[in-house]
Amino acid sequence: MRLRTPLTGLGNRLALEEALLLAQESAVHGGPPPALLLLDLDGFRDLKRSLGHAAADQVLMTVAMRIRSAAGEHDVVTRLGGDEFAVLLPATPVARATAAGNRILAALEPDIDLGNETVRCRASMGLRIAEPDQTPADILLEADMALEESRAEGRNKVRNFDPATLLARQLQRQIVGELGQAIDSDQLVLYFQPIVELATGKLQGTEALVRWDHPEHGLIMPDRFIPIAEASGLIAKLGRWVLRASVAQLAAWRNDPATAKHDFTMRINVSAPDLQSLEFVDDVREALATAGLPAQALVLELTESAIIQNNELDRYTLMSLHRLGVGLEIDDFGTGYSSMGYLRKLPVDHVKVDREFVRELDKDDTQLKFLAAIQQVIRSCGLDGIWEGIETAEQAEALRSIGCTSGQGYYFGRPVPGTDFTEQLKRQLTWPA
Ligand code: C2E
Ligand code: CA
Ligand code: CA
Repeated sequence: MRLRTPLTGLGNRLALEEALLLAQESAVHGGPPPALLLLDLDGFRDLKRSLGHAAADQVLMTVAMRIRSAAGEHDVVTRLGGDEFAVLLPATPVARATAAGNRILAALEPDIDLGNETVRCRASMGLRIAEPDQTPADILLEADMALEESRAEGRNKVRNFDPATLLARQLQRQIVGELGQAIDSDQLVLYFQPIVELATGKLQGTEALVRWDHPEHGLIMPDRFIPIAEASGLIAKLGRWVLRASVAQLAAWRNDPATAKHDFTMRINVSAPDLQSLEFVDDVREALATAGLPAQALVLELTESAIIQNNELDRYTLMSLHRLGVGLEIDDFGTGYSSMGYLRKLPVDHVKVDREFVRELDKDDTQLKFLAAIQQVIRSCGLDGIWEGIETAEQAEALRSIGCTSGQGYYFGRPVPGTDFTEQLKRQLTWPA
């Protein structure tokens, strides 16, 4: 059997697996476990495309030589194929293995002279200290996962295998796989949080906040799956579910004499990709019609970045929604853009100021003046300002003193499931309780 790859003269995958087995065996007899470094050149495929095969081979040979001379005398250097190399360090603890890896990365840094041009080579590197009962295949797999992390970080540094990262990644993959089905099988739930008139404590609205009641993992918060849904295209389906479920809930509250005494709007969060869908306006119109609600009962919360993409389709969607009569609100105001000029140009009615601003209130006295100025800008644009993240009576009072009219936050009420919110509606006339 051939144990060497012809180009570099280094051992191949088979040679590595044999060396790993040997090292593992000697560790069984009391020695420290071996360390495996896995290295992969950044952007090698592009390099190959632009330089051609012959020059790319020359780069690989130089890299192989540099790794060989930077590695220790007893380390086993192998080439696993393409631009992937492995270095096995017998009986090496993590600190020393990391230092050895970084030394190899540093050795690759000088430009490689190809005669008529020079190229710059960078690599990513993963490290796995073998566990006593691991097979070579397992060790390689986990070194590869660490390599993937190193590549994602792009810092030209060794990354040690970390089981917690692995778990997070597995969960992430699982989430993408299961989310579509979860929407169909009603595993999503809406929580509702009050939006309150600061002067009277009366309810002005409720924000629907989605959670995933996962059969195994329990309640998963939106920050964990909304970005994944947005990236995977599932957000349209999720958004439609939220839209329908929230207006159905509002209709139920309006139709029940025990809760109908309150007059408030439903607020839902809309993702940027939703605005780019031509069907979105129809979905909204249809959901409202099915629930028997006027358009004014619904307010759509959009983040600054979603609303200012300045794309014709987005603009068209916004105008259509505005004409339909639903309220439009900028969410997380103040976090995205420094220019406020757009406030006057877009068809929005409400601005929800990011909770960061209220949090800063406790830190120093000039902050209140700053917030007063923001409120004034919002007001002078003819908009309605809502302040989120109000956690204390003092914060609510301070905001009221500078002319703010609406607020939301744990002080008035945390997000709760629909049944609990129904109980509040029956019991309370004002918030907090
Ligand atoms: P957001 O729209 O800014 O929602 C407000 C978040 O702040 C909620 O977190 C809420 O629970 C939390 N919050 C409310 N009051 C307070 C307070 O007084 N103090 C603090 N520290 N936090 C407070 P949640 O429910 O985890 O939602 C996180 C984000 O997920 C939301 O931020 C929103 O961007 C997104 N999201 C939630 N539901 C949906 C949805 O149905 N569709 C989409 N596209 N995004 C959603
Ligand atoms: Ca929101
Ligand atoms: Ca917000």
